[in-house]
Amino acid sequence: MHYDHYIVSFSGGKDSMACLLHLLELGVPRDRIELWHMLVDGREDGHFMDWPITESYCRAVAAHFGLPIYMSWKVGGFKRELLRSNEPTAPTKFERNDGTVSTIGGKGPNGTRGKFPQVSADLKVRWCSAYLKIDVCAKAIANQERFNGKRTVIVTGERGEESPGRAKYHTYEHDRYTHRPDGELARHVDRWRPVRDWPEAEVWAIMQRWKVRPHPAYQLGFGRVSCALCIFGNANQWASARLLVPRQFVHVARHEEASGYTIKRRGTVRELAEAGTPYDAINANRANRQLAMMVSTTTFTLPIPMDPWELPAGAYGEACGPT
Ligand code: SF4
Repeated sequence: MHYDHYIVSFSGGKDSMACLLHLLELGVPRDRIELWHMLVDGREDGHFMDWPITESYCRAVAAHFGLPIYMSWKVGGFKRELLRSNEPTAPTKFERNDGTVSTIGGKGPNGTRGKFPQVSADLKVRWCSAYLKIDVCAKAIANQERFNGKRTVIVTGERGEESPGRAKYHTYEHDRYTHRPDGELARHVDRWRPVRDWPEAEVWAIMQRWKVRPHPAYQLGFGRVSCALCIFGNANQWASARLLVPRQFVHVARHEEASGYTIKRRGTVRELAEAGTPYDAINANRANRQLAMMVSTTTFTLPIPMDPWELPAGAYGEACGPT
């Protein structure tokens, strides 16, 4: 099907990479493809939940394929939304294709948050996905004239193997947030999940065919790349993240202590990390120890082409994530 714009919602994880490579294998012209990355922590106050290295890795992938990449974020990111106290949710910022950055919103009703998102499939209570990703992406489309009167598809990497909820997603549908069939500002926006039915092996196979280097967290043992301190993470992931992004871990743990509200129902993140074991891969060899230092920085220094290509330690491992 023909589209003017193919927006790959590019987290830096393997499934969004598979989406991008699939488009290229289908022969979609590169001048119609763009990568969009939502910065969970925003730009204003350092990193709180996410891997500091991810933005740089995503930019390196875009540069390797000669594709534009645009960042978008809620001002202050996860932490500001968490600390929101009787005030509107923060504005959204997004990079445009002319190099400028737009700011939208920030004048909504007052509200108070104070609690971490709930570990739930329900986006009303798992507010991080809704506020920091879905809403930010929708605002960036709805407020760019270049999408009006055009056909756009947002390509996302949910796979049915990850959860029963994801298995029920449609592979194709109009985007419920931005598709606008009528009126002066009409725009056609679809959502396409091309890898919904792919087994994990197919995802790694396409990365091997293209010899692209996965996000470094995979090489360090993580089966899923999301926020470093994802609310869905299990004990081993939190134990590993405590080792890799220790300052962020302490900030999150202190917020739990100060607020009295924990991310998990059964205890604090300190207790969770104590119950887990950091992945062996973190300390497996010199190259991995260097990667372990790199993930807490904002500069990805390795080439994206990887030859010979190697399956990372985290492949087929623990992949706790949204349901
Ligand atoms: S990766 Fe986890 S913590 Fe981060 S936005 Fe998604 S669900 Fe929330």
